[in-house]
Amino acid sequence: LRRNHGESEFHQAVREVLETLGPLLHARPEFMDARVVERLCEPERQLIFRVPWSDDKGDIHVNRGFRVEFSSSLGPYKGGLRFHPSVNLGIVKFLGFEQIFKNALTGMPIGGGKGGADFDPKGRSDAEVMRFCQSFMTELHRHIGEYTDVPAGDIGVGGREIGYLFGQYKRITNRYESGVLTGKGLGWGGAQARTEATGYGCVMFTAEMLRARGESLEGRRVAVSGSGNVAIYAIEKAQQLGATVVTCSDSSGYVVDDKGIDLALLKEIKEAGRGRVSEYAERRGVHAQFVAGRGVWNVTCDVALPCATQNELDEDDARTLVANGVRAVAEGANMPTTPGAVKVFQEAGVAFAPGKAANAGGVATSALEMQQNASRDSWTFAHTEERLEEIMRHIHEACYTTAERYGVPGNYVVGANIAGFELVADAMLAQGLI
Ligand code: NDP
Repeated sequence: LRRNHGESEFHQAVREVLETLGPLLHARPEFMDARVVERLCEPERQLIFRVPWSDDKGDIHVNRGFRVEFSSSLGPYKGGLRFHPSVNLGIVKFLGFEQIFKNALTGMPIGGGKGGADFDPKGRSDAEVMRFCQSFMTELHRHIGEYTDVPAGDIGVGGREIGYLFGQYKRITNRYESGVLTGKGLGWGGAQARTEATGYGCVMFTAEMLRARGESLEGRRVAVSGSGNVAIYAIEKAQQLGATVVTCSDSSGYVVDDKGIDLALLKEIKEAGRGRVSEYAERRGVHAQFVAGRGVWNVTCDVALPCATQNELDEDDARTLVANGVRAVAEGANMPTTPGAVKVFQEAGVAFAPGKAANAGGVATSALEMQQNASRDSWTFAHTEERLEEIMRHIHEACYTTAERYGVPGNYVVGANIAGFELVADAMLAQGLI
């Protein structure tokens, strides 16, 4: 704690993992002897750098860029870049730490890392975003590569930003190294279904969790938070599986649409126009209502999918959801549920899926993109989605059986942490003291 002073989100993420590892460390004392926990809590490398850029008026701005290369035990560092004013070292480290175990759970050969900048793309022109991305990559390019570190998108970094970042990497290095970034456009090395993968995967995991209880998503009422990449495709897959999704949100408020979100309209507003959910409510008319501020979890639902940001669902929200009859909660975002809220769900017998399991479909499909880039191949949407579904089923199975083996059936938090940690720790032992 002293060494990582003030990094509250990082402390929260580490505590959540360590609290569940007791039975594993008891069964595998060699992990304690090799000080695997201490080694894993210290990133292999942390980079902090200056990102200067000029806006459309010629005014100069200076942002702070980060890349935390946490663990390369299972493969090259892999994890997204976040551009949001709240980004700091503690947030990047929490995301990077989570990423280690999430990536292990996918069964793909990828290590864990994360990065970003305290830059706010909101309200910036395309030209400004391009200049920022070019400046960011001018430093980052020294540290990444197909066999070293492979960034992707996260909050504030979508297809547009990945395009600008890739262009600058290519220009500086004079290498068309497709595998250096994932989330690329479909015409230049991107994978089918990558855009959809995190949201789709989260709903696939939810469906598996419900199936294990003899239930399904068909006819269920679902509340989703957020209206970005993860939220939009969680809504799409839930609708495909016969659920009615009644909410979405952004940082200004949320929408309730009892007839079910009109996804074509939401996509038009968010993806084509970069608009707000309030505009959705205005254009949807009588069906939908916009409510300013937080409060999306007050809406009655059977299934809740937090898909916006960390710590967006607290203990009071969890109590309200339980009182309203929620059956399952799956984290599309990273650590959206506070520790107190997780406890409320678990004590109430609600099926709860932590992000490192439920949102792993995105990074898994990124690894499939790397696989296609390495073989100069390009798969169909249907084939890629099928692979994603297999991976999500495999992750569910690993979490479920691990939880059973350690005497806490149905506890996906314990299952995910132990299953992910054991894979990484075994690789660390095999690779010696590094
Ligand atoms: P986007 O930038 O596409 O969307 C983020 C959404 O969350 C927006 O609706 C945004 O609203 C909302 N949001 C962000 N910060 C806040 C806040 N402080 N309070 C309320 N709402 C907020 O990001 P993604 O959809 O890609 O990411 C969402 C979550 O999913 C993140 O936790 C991310 O780490 C996680 N994730 C993403 C993956 C991916 O493949 N993209 C993979 C795995 C996890 P507003 O526009 O108002 O800011």
